[in-house]
This record gives sequence, structure tokens and C-alpha cells, in this order.
Amino acid sequence: MGCRERAAKDDLLRIVAIEGACVPDHRGTLPGRGAYVHPALVCLDLAVRRRAFPRALRAPGPLDTKALRLAVEKTVAEKATP
Ligand SMILES: [Zn+2]
Repeated sequence: MGCRERAAKDDLLRIVAIEGACVPDHRGTLPGRGAYVHPALVCLDLAVRRRAFPRALRAPGPLDTKALRLAVEKTVAEKATP
């Protein structure tokens, strides 16, 4: 969704909208529409800048992405340190 690069679903992070905020769905179990981005900051930031989340998740207004960004930052940090 962010960089528009194709990827297997397993490599992507599912995002859902809960109460006006984007929430990462690491296990893919949360209900509702999902949007998919690479778990990478460049990809996430692109999606945020394009306002892709409200569109993809059919949200009536803007969505808060602060918590989502922190979660992705954590994921990236975890991957960097095995
Ligand atoms: Zn991407």
C-alpha cells in the first residue's frame, strides 16, 4: 500500500482502524477491513503521506498513526538485533 511494491501477504503488516487510530494486527486476527504495508518506516510514512489509510480502511476521517509508527519502529529494531 505504501511503496506499491508487490510482496507476499506474509511479509506485510496488516493494519486495521480502531476508534480513529491505525492499529497493527500482527497476528492477522482483528476484525474489520485490513490495509497492508511493509513493516518498514519508509513504506509506512509513504502510506501516511498519501493518506492511504483512511481511504483503504474506509474511515470517515483522518486516522491517528502515532502508535502504529511506534510499533513499526519496534518491529524494525527487533529485526535488526537478532
Ligand atoms: Zn512497501
